Amino acid sequence: MELPKTRKFAAIMEARVDEEIGGKIRNVHVAEIHEEPLPEMGPRDLMLKMETCQICTTDYQQWLGLREHQGFPMAGGHEWSGIVIAKGEEVTAFEVGDRVGPVHGGCGECINCRRGHSFACTSKGKSRGAVNGFLGSRGFANYGVVKDTTVVKVSNTIPSPEAGFLEPIATVICGMKRLRVQPGETVVIIGAGTMGIANAQVAHAFGARVIITELTPKKLERARSMGFAEVIDAKANDPVAEVMRLTDGYGADAVIAAVGLGAAYRQGYAMLKRVEGRFLLFAAGYPVPEWEINPNEIHYRRIEIIGTMSGDVSDFADAAFMISHRIVDASKSLEGKLIPLRDIQKAYIEAATPDAYRVTVDLQEV
Ligand SMILES: [Zn+2]
Ligand SMILES: [Zn+2]
Repeated sequence: MELPKTRKFAAIMEARVDEEIGGKIRNVHVAEIHEEPLPEMGPRDLMLKMETCQICTTDYQQWLGLREHQGFPMAGGHEWSGIVIAKGEEVTAFEVGDRVGPVHGGCGECINCRRGHSFACTSKGKSRGAVNGFLGSRGFANYGVVKDTTVVKVSNTIPSPEAGFLEPIATVICGMKRLRVQPGETVVIIGAGTMGIANAQVAHAFGARVIITELTPKKLERARSMGFAEVIDAKANDPVAEVMRLTDGYGADAVIAAVGLGAAYRQGYAMLKRVEGRFLLFAAGYPVPEWEINPNEIHYRRIEIIGTMSGDVSDFADAAFMISHRIVDASKSLEGKLIPLRDIQKAYIEAATPDAYRVTVDLQEV
């Protein structure tokens, strides 16, 4: 087989344009297709024919103009899957035909990486900067060349959009471990969006009783259709009172805020059991949410407030296992829309539409 010499990839440009999103006109960045030579293959590299990539919140918030600090032009995308079509002579862990997804694994060399704590990689500050004038790792591309240490195998038997949901599930698994969820505990998830649904599935897999609170009918319906019996309509009911009622006044052992809003933090905090409740801040909010907490209460009630972000290398391996064996059904966090790479601007419009689950881009359609 003749290997490709170039790739086409999508990038968010500095330029802006008006688009209609969810019935409103918004001034958003332009996303468009560019072409560049594929990097030379090294001895530990894999060449990938890319399949699909989801548009993550970090992607569309930058496109919306909410994350200007990330820089332009940005050729991002990290929720992809690809098939190995060639490998360097020193690659032993992968074969041509394997399906892989990306691992945010750090450098693999520093002391934190050696301990498996790759999120704390000490060489992370040295970012690669722009290549061929573009920032980002080229997740929205038809071909890729990657180091074998930066990917993990995912099953060939599931649809590619599910295989591409690796990083979000790794992030959720990391959060669940940090929250130390135990079988038989009651865990409340605030929000049934893309990441709320993912948190609910992983909490269930960890053996917890899962209660979900959500405001919008579409997401309430999605959570209920998955078989979650305790789903609270937070518009029709006071979610704090409902959680107290469902737990006979005991409260939640742990709460996961999968929404970055001050109101969600205040509600979640109020649902915690009287002593030793644990609260996980899973989502960031823009603008920065306001939340006042009483330090004395944290002290007297032994409350734990835990932050989480991304995952460590082991969480990605666990995520690949859970997705591959359908312990988690990643399709439940997806909108079910497959948009050609050549229509990347349209894909961003769909992804940024309020109440949308993850939108998928078909990377071979360019
Ligand atoms: Zn993501
Ligand atoms: Zn490192």
